[in-house]
Amino acid sequence: MSEAASPTASLDFIREMIAADVAAQRNEGWVITRFPPEPNGYLHIGHAKSICLNFGLALENAPQSRCHLRFDDTNPTKEEVEYVDSIQEDVRWLGFDWGDHLYYASDYFEKLYGFAVQLIDKGLAYVDDQTPEQMRLTRGTLTSPGTASPWRDRSPAENRDLFARMRAGEFKEGEKILRAKIDMASPNMNMRDPAIYRILHAHHHRTGDAWCIYPMYDFAHPLSDALESITHSLCTLEFEHHRPLYEWLINNVDGLPGQPYQREFARLNLTHTVMSKRKLLRLVKEGLVSSWDDPRMPTISGMRRRGITPAGIRNFCHTIGLTKYPSLSELGLLEHCVREDLNKYAQRVYGVLRPIKVVLTNYPEGQVEHVELVNNPENPADGTRKVPLSRELYVDADDFMEVPVQGFHRLVPGGEVRLKYAFCIICQEIIKDAEGNILELRCTYDDATRHGAKPVGRPKVKGTIHWVSAAHAVDAEVRLYETLFTEAEPESAAGEDGDFTQFLNPQSLETVIAKIEPSVADSKPGTHYQFERVGYFYTDPKDSLPGKPVFNRTVALKDGFVKK
Ligand code: ATP
Ligand code: MG
Repeated sequence: MSEAASPTASLDFIREMIAADVAAQRNEGWVITRFPPEPNGYLHIGHAKSICLNFGLALENAPQSRCHLRFDDTNPTKEEVEYVDSIQEDVRWLGFDWGDHLYYASDYFEKLYGFAVQLIDKGLAYVDDQTPEQMRLTRGTLTSPGTASPWRDRSPAENRDLFARMRAGEFKEGEKILRAKIDMASPNMNMRDPAIYRILHAHHHRTGDAWCIYPMYDFAHPLSDALESITHSLCTLEFEHHRPLYEWLINNVDGLPGQPYQREFARLNLTHTVMSKRKLLRLVKEGLVSSWDDPRMPTISGMRRRGITPAGIRNFCHTIGLTKYPSLSELGLLEHCVREDLNKYAQRVYGVLRPIKVVLTNYPEGQVEHVELVNNPENPADGTRKVPLSRELYVDADDFMEVPVQGFHRLVPGGEVRLKYAFCIICQEIIKDAEGNILELRCTYDDATRHGAKPVGRPKVKGTIHWVSAAHAVDAEVRLYETLFTEAEPESAAGEDGDFTQFLNPQSLETVIAKIEPSVADSKPGTHYQFERVGYFYTDPKDSLPGKPVFNRTVALKDGFVKK
């Protein structure tokens, strides 16, 4: 056994299992996985976990490996081309590539039909005339067996004929259904003669009107896996009870090119958000967010627009790992992973979100000096830039307190603070309007405190704040995002009958006009910045224009979930 193939303690249970299969030369050592979205919505961060797993396994097991992208498009009433396109864009953006292996379950409709006929011929499937309501009533319960349908013992010949007529469009929706003939007394409800083909007089985004019967997901999925010679079919825990049906189909259909098996892992749940496409669709349809790519959404497209990075998401998925038990991950952990990534390359700039004017009364009027600032201390190759400094500045209102609380070490009346990379200033006077609003702070600066020199004869300066030159600053719209929901678990907080939208956070978006150093004026849409001391920001890919930048706050600099 090679070193790489031997299961080690650091591997998760899926990787351990695959390493053992490779070592045992199952499928000649090939690892073929798939990511199988249904194109009925945009992908979300939960899907990213599955994408990172399936595509990651292919990368880790190269060269005898690959990962397919397959659209499980068996439900024409909910699926759209828009979703097909966005899903491909999102998977690519996350950094993965399916090469030539893009598939659609709908491309297998003819083959799947043939497999159903095969089961009919083996006496393993039958056409049922019961109404959906009758079928529900005869299914039994978890403690009592189901009752056989009066149509269960139809002959293969009759079933074949009826199934062909279903396909030919002779029947209405719900009038007939094809069921696998398994076991009406099985303790597993999924094995009580599950439906495998239903009548749907619906237009399909790919096959048009060619079909009016469509395979059920539980039938199409394992057989599509087998048709593509998938070796490991990895899905989330809720499919565990479908596994026996998966295996039943793989074992009972002849002529399949592959013999995949299914294993389950816990889905990703994230605090302060909801993750089902159905619920996200509702937020979009009801206008509770602006669109699928609203930067507050947990969708991949929303996160991309917000400035969250593919590496940040991949690191997050790697950090949370794989388990067999449901769990809830902290949004703060995702933010941490994103910060770690952006820290490496986001250019540093000075931006003041809530400007308050500072006039340096002893600084010569009309004088402008340029302070040389490092673009990114993490990467000296990014060089430096010159930032103008003059008599009138803006500092952040959050960095000033007229009546300071204990422990506040920034600007206060009569107090001294350092302007980052410049000099120290003392607040001498507060100018207010008739209503008592602060108009400006009159301060003096000490030229002897440049280059980090300490003030002489005065107390040590404890605080350092950032600033921009008033005459040179660029006004820019900045969108400050908070969590979309106030509750960590909006669905459980709402309960079975409650509505999760009651926990939408009214403060999830605040727009401010900020003052930002002039170097950002012409920044391209889709550029990452760190506003020093404040957070990471991203010029909105849709709304930002050179000369008129619009910034999205990607993440605050500190973990909002950790006590400051
Ligand atoms: P949703 O419940 O959000 O509608 P879904 O499971 O119906 O999601 P699919 O398009 O069927 O969406 O999902 C494609 C793949 O992504 C499946 O293999 C599914 O198991 C996986 N997946 C979906 N949600 C998550 C999640 N939260 N964590 C991990 N994997 C997920
Ligand atoms: Mg699904």
